Amino acid sequence: MHPKLAADEDGLARLLEEVRRHAAGALGRLGERAVVPAVEAPEPERLPEEGAGLAGALAAFADRWEPALSASAGPRYLGFVTGGTTPAALAGDWMTGVWDQNPVSSLDGAGQELERETVGWLRELFGLSDGHHGAFVGGATVSNTVGLAIAREWLGERAGVSPAEDGAGALGDVRVLSGAAHSSVPKALAVLGLGRRALTGVPTAAGREAVDPAALERALREADGPCVVVANAGTVNTGDFDDLRAVAALRDRYPFWLHVDAAFGGFAALSPAHAHLVAGLDAADSICVDLHKWLNVPYGSALQLTRRPDLQASVFRNAAAYLGPLGDAPDLVHLTPENSRRLRALAAWFTLRAYGRDGHREIVDRCTACARALGDAVEAVPGLRLLAPVRLNVVCFTLADRPDAERLAALADRVAGEAFLTPTVHDGVPALRAAFSNWRTGEADVRRVAAALREAVPHV
Ligand SMILES: *Cc1c(COP(=O)(O)O)cnc(C)c1O
Repeated sequence: MHPKLAADEDGLARLLEEVRRHAAGALGRLGERAVVPAVEAPEPERLPEEGAGLAGALAAFADRWEPALSASAGPRYLGFVTGGTTPAALAGDWMTGVWDQNPVSSLDGAGQELERETVGWLRELFGLSDGHHGAFVGGATVSNTVGLAIAREWLGERAGVSPAEDGAGALGDVRVLSGAAHSSVPKALAVLGLGRRALTGVPTAAGREAVDPAALERALREADGPCVVVANAGTVNTGDFDDLRAVAALRDRYPFWLHVDAAFGGFAALSPAHAHLVAGLDAADSICVDLHKWLNVPYGSALQLTRRPDLQASVFRNAAAYLGPLGDAPDLVHLTPENSRRLRALAAWFTLRAYGRDGHREIVDRCTACARALGDAVEAVPGLRLLAPVRLNVVCFTLADRPDAERLAALADRVAGEAFLTPTVHDGVPALRAAFSNWRTGEADVRRVAAALREAVPHV
């Protein structure tokens, strides 16, 4: 064995203690460090011929890279929809590396059973029936891609062909209808050979990002045949929701596959005050929920659900003599784009086991309260105005006069040490948005963000 590797093996217990201490220190400073530090990334180094051992690697990481990383795990990183990592999720992530399972085959240990138990818990968390089968994938983009791959196979079933066998060309033109689809949807369509142009925008209700059901009905009538509808439960700009019950009801009259992108909006189901926003979610044929956002597990985790695991296996089956059979409950290797992968479910399992439905409901409720509080604060800052009501956890606002992208970028820049906000355009108006989805965030953080905005506005 290489001497550096052998030394690390000998000193493993002590080294892990050193890593633990370093991690606790970093997390302890998370709330106070600059949210996006004004530090350039270091110049890339050449590959070391001589290794430094674990302790040396940790020291080099702490020295060169840590100062330039953002506090995205902290309480005032409000850009995109980011989430954090609960203490138990962090422990679960560590255990994932410790056990290094590849939970995709029944020929192996119980890894995939742990994943199935976790999928069952999440189904309950979101109030879904056991008609939905699920698996873990790397993020909502992959989850949307898998959902749309199953939709593609469903269109094939209707047309008497199999796109998975014969290629997407066997389908002819495909229409994917959506009000305010996330950018990952056209990306998924490009990957699936359906093409970005398959996405047909449907008008939304006035001033909203929610699809207008009457307009959707017109589009379905015009489509004159089976198509795909992507309904949105939580849009990134304003946190708006399609009326899922109204959308699903259209299936009585028109044939379509209903995919719901509930990447972060699905968490509305946890909160009695917001659950109505996702009423009807269970009726979907496939559903995407991101877990590395509002479940607060580390990056690389989303849930993908469908009522048609048989069609899913038609697409993703990975027949090989050494892998398990397909059967009625196919091994996970036959259901997702990756074959080998980490035991992603474990971080989710840990946080659900540690805090339960109640603990995660509290996180959702606190985040929505923070969003409401920031919305109120923004309205009270001279020179700012809200662009949309705060429906869940997203605050979309802009400058009251001359809201151009440059001035908004300057505003975001001025507050970047204190809070991270991301730009957008809503209803033709450039804007900034703050999304709350981190378990660490509280009212004191909202006051700090509001104070930073109030201070910065006169300077842009
Ligand atoms: C974040 C998000 C996605 C994409 O998720 P990734 O985890 O970045 O792949 C898709 N849809 C919605 C609504 C999202 O918020």
